[in-house]
Amino acid sequence: MTTSLNTSCCEDEREPNTLSIEEALQYIKTQLPSFTDIEKVGLQDGLGRILAHSILSPLNLPPHDCAAMDGYALAGQTLSTTQQYRVIGSAFAGKPFLGTVREGECVRIMTGAVLPEGTDTVVMQEHVTCLEEIIQLGTDEHPRQHVRYKGEDLAQGQVALQAGKPLLAAELGLLASLGFVEITVKRRLRIAFFSTGDELTAPTSALERGHIYDSNRTTLYAMLKRLGVEPLDMGIIPDELSTLQHALRMASGQAEVILTSGGVSVGEADFVKQALSDLGNIHFWKLAIKPGRPLAFGKIQDSLFFGLPGNPVAAMVAFYQLVQPALQTMMGIKINIPTWKVRCTSKLAKKPGRTEFQRGLLSQTENGEWTVCSTGAQGSGMLRSMSEGNCFIILPQEQGRVQINDWVTVQPFWGLI
Ligand code: AMP
Ligand code: MG
Repeated sequence: MTTSLNTSCCEDEREPNTLSIEEALQYIKTQLPSFTDIEKVGLQDGLGRILAHSILSPLNLPPHDCAAMDGYALAGQTLSTTQQYRVIGSAFAGKPFLGTVREGECVRIMTGAVLPEGTDTVVMQEHVTCLEEIIQLGTDEHPRQHVRYKGEDLAQGQVALQAGKPLLAAELGLLASLGFVEITVKRRLRIAFFSTGDELTAPTSALERGHIYDSNRTTLYAMLKRLGVEPLDMGIIPDELSTLQHALRMASGQAEVILTSGGVSVGEADFVKQALSDLGNIHFWKLAIKPGRPLAFGKIQDSLFFGLPGNPVAAMVAFYQLVQPALQTMMGIKINIPTWKVRCTSKLAKKPGRTEFQRGLLSQTENGEWTVCSTGAQGSGMLRSMSEGNCFIILPQEQGRVQINDWVTVQPFWGLI
């Protein structure tokens, strides 16, 4: 069954039945299935995975009071510049001093060593004069200084990491410090994707006249990998009804989400519509965004379906602005991509009616102010603009052209991937 979402909100510059990006995002949100599959992985394989359950600390971190400096351990209440202390032994990290320290005594101690019985304070070795195993203190020493106290980083039973946390270097290190060797994470979402188009050739083959190399599959694979999902590359599918239907059926049997590129614009929309007509419930949208006007969205059996536009920049914009937030919601993660306002040092052509994602170059002037300039030509097929730029300049739907020094909203690419 093929349907389209009715919208009543049309401006002069908009084509009839276009959907704003906010409306599309809102609708997609209502259609996202919950995804609860989990699996265990070794810590070494945990990078980028999403923690399935909150982790309570099974032990105190650090497990005991220990020295934060190299120096001498003694009892804080006996600190005195007039008293002498006899050094009765040494404590090293991993090799504790096993005796008890009494009044007038101290122990030579290294960073990370357990504080000996009877001590609670470390005096830095640089603050001490030492003569034949007798030390004398300088001024400005304080009881309990230079000690890492048991449980001060994490107390036993305290929440160490919340469910839904993406595991990066710090989180994996934290889990190792708590003695974990494996961890329960969300299973990776499986995303089947293919390119459509009779003109497309894989970069492994020679290019025939009238053909172009398929770049979307490589871009999509990279964006999916960065997101920590499992990409299933199904190749290039020609503009041919039965082959396309077969590929969509195969994809829906294997993946939670299906992504395609191409074939959803006006000229070919009917063809893809036809291929999908008895497989699922798909909306064919004209989005009020640039680049990336055509987008198909819906379900094929139990799989979510996104039909991205074929133009390479349009496919990336639709992925980042619509697909990525949906996949992150399904994975149970919330990542706020920063946007902020800076002055624009280029004139930008823009007509009211569509939200534009122009490519810009953010840089810092000598006085420390951040500004953005355009990367130049903004064609939706010019992938070079995504590589030469480092941010989107997001121009709202109703905005007209931008003059030099106007304020614009930017969204850095390093927040997106
Ligand atoms: P379509 O959305 O299929 O009408 O394609 C729009 C434009 O994007 C056409 O110029 C296509 O040749 C181009 N295009 C479609 N798919 C790809 C792809 N996978 N890689 C590079 N260009 C593509
Ligand atoms: Mg095409």
